[in-house]
Amino acid sequence: MSKQIQAIRGMNDCLPGETAKWQWLEQALRDTVASYGYQEIRTPIVEMTGLFKRAIGEVTDIVEKEMYTFEDRNGDSLTLRPEGTASTVRAGNQHGLLYNQEQRLWYMGPMFRHERPQKGRYRQFHQFGVEVYGIGSADADAEVLMMSARLWQRLGIADTVRLEINTLGTSEERAAYREALVAFLEQHKARLDEDSQRRMYTNPLRVLDSKNADVQALLADAPALMDYLGEESKAHFSLLRELLDGAGIQYRVNPRLVRGLDYYNHTVFEWITDSLGAQGTVLAGGRYDGLVDQLGGKDTPAVGFASGIERLVLLLETLGKFDTLPAPVEVYVCAMGAGTLGSAMTLADELRRETELAVMMHCGGGNFKKQMKRADKSGAAVALIIGEDELQQGVVTVKPLRAGGEQRQVSREELAGLLPSLVNA
Ligand code: ATP
Ligand code: MG
Repeated sequence: MSKQIQAIRGMNDCLPGETAKWQWLEQALRDTVASYGYQEIRTPIVEMTGLFKRAIGEVTDIVEKEMYTFEDRNGDSLTLRPEGTASTVRAGNQHGLLYNQEQRLWYMGPMFRHERPQKGRYRQFHQFGVEVYGIGSADADAEVLMMSARLWQRLGIADTVRLEINTLGTSEERAAYREALVAFLEQHKARLDEDSQRRMYTNPLRVLDSKNADVQALLADAPALMDYLGEESKAHFSLLRELLDGAGIQYRVNPRLVRGLDYYNHTVFEWITDSLGAQGTVLAGGRYDGLVDQLGGKDTPAVGFASGIERLVLLLETLGKFDTLPAPVEVYVCAMGAGTLGSAMTLADELRRETELAVMMHCGGGNFKKQMKRADKSGAAVALIIGEDELQQGVVTVKPLRAGGEQRQVSREELAGLLPSLVNA
């Protein structure tokens, strides 16, 4: 045998046992956005490299070291999308969806980042995200946060995630703050680690979310961005807080929260869980009023978030939320004896139409023992047997496989009415 080819490191298969979990989660996500009236947008997985460089920023982790970039056969530099916002804005601009309009959009799909694979961090991963365009006021920020809180309720994980918010003000306010911060960092350069020393000039705000404890200790005395905000920025943030308070959504203001992408202004936020170890952020986002213009569109305010689906699946798994998912097969139909196969297949199809149940037909023949073994392995709650006797008498043998009592014969007419209770026994 020749050597098997393996999947690429950090890029996972989603196997049959897993897909049911994903589908359940994806359905909850779809139901949630639908209940807010948001519409789906689907964009290509590959874009021009320049889009991400311009949108995300040259001195960010993603652009500096995480992008899957390659040359197309015609020499264009293309990149597998590392996130969804840049593509959404690109599509919105290209198709004239944004200027002077309001759009409330969502997307879901694979993203690609060349990071070190570990639990909750992969090279192909999946994000679900929402983007709101054309609303500059903090009610839109509050709405996407209320939507995420609603989602946690729907998933039954509201107790295990907490919200952190911050404001970054406008880019002018941030520029003034940046100067003060760099001056402070220069004074204490010796106490900064290598990463922070480098960021101090390229992207000084990122020093604020350094994971280094010494750097964090130093930052206790650093100037605070909050002190550099003008009246409008303060008003934006206080309206957001007021609306969150009114909605009963608890949060912590974390002045160190700056987020890794360049395009944010005013509101930034993260939903974090302590149940997943280091990769604890399950949803993150903020306002990005400058991006549409930066990508060549007309000035349009925007706010949105993205959530990591793998991390949500891990969290739901950890909390046992998948334990009660319905089995993929509920009823297993067997045909035994001459001339029974056609009737059994017809019966299976009629039951699919008459009930909502998942009915699997045994294929490939075999004796009673073999068919029952398959029935059991399918996970079905009930096996139905059509033998020669059953066929003659117009009945079906019903054999509960887990609980639900004794084997018995049931008339064809009664069958559809009886099955759901047997399956759910
Ligand atoms: P982190 O701090 O964990 O690297 P990030 O700030 O890079 O996250 P965003 O770009 O804001 O993350 O993406 C939003 C969400 O997507 C994250 O909160 C996380 O749930 C998920 N995510 C990001 N990168 C990955 C990855 N490599 N693998 C799995 N999920 C990811
Ligand atoms: Mg990251």
